[in-house]
Amino acid sequence: MNTDTPTPRKLRVATVSLAGCFGCHMSFLDIDERLFELIEHVEFDRSPLTDIKTVGPCDIGLVEGGLCNAENVEVLRAFRANCRVLVAVGACAITGGLPALRNHLDVGDMLQAVYGTVPDDPELPLPLNKVHPIHEVVRIDHALPGCPPPADAFWQLLQDLMAGHEPVLNKGLIRYD
Ligand code: SF4
Repeated sequence: MNTDTPTPRKLRVATVSLAGCFGCHMSFLDIDERLFELIEHVEFDRSPLTDIKTVGPCDIGLVEGGLCNAENVEVLRAFRANCRVLVAVGACAITGGLPALRNHLDVGDMLQAVYGTVPDDPELPLPLNKVHPIHEVVRIDHALPGCPPPADAFWQLLQDLMAGHEPVLNKGLIRYD
């Protein structure tokens, strides 16, 4: 009789930075030595950590940054279509954050002022008139507030999701700065 307990499947996690500064990703990496424990339980799909360019079927998607151009919208929709649980990570994903400070300006006037022309290289993604939080385009399951969220908040969220619980952040981990 085989008494071996089957090894639990690793959860597949994707991460992306849309209109963000990668500060949320840097804070995630601040879980430091807990990364070794994490990779016992998860494997990474599309992420700056793997350099995989397109998202595949995943258990968890972590989205940093809001939406400032058409490419951001396309990538976000692919994350929603592929990730069972989608998390808005940080102020930019949740509210638009710092990039949304441009929302009171005309995007054409702004490009003209910065570049002296409106850049029209076909490889450039089409800018949106306003920067949007991600919940305006797709359904999100959880939000991790902060600019950036503290490393312990990432750790708590992932531990809860790995254990199959609804994530609950302790008071000290809910940040709005
Ligand atoms: Fe950067 Fe803050 Fe936005 Fe995260 S929430 S992407 S740290 S500006």
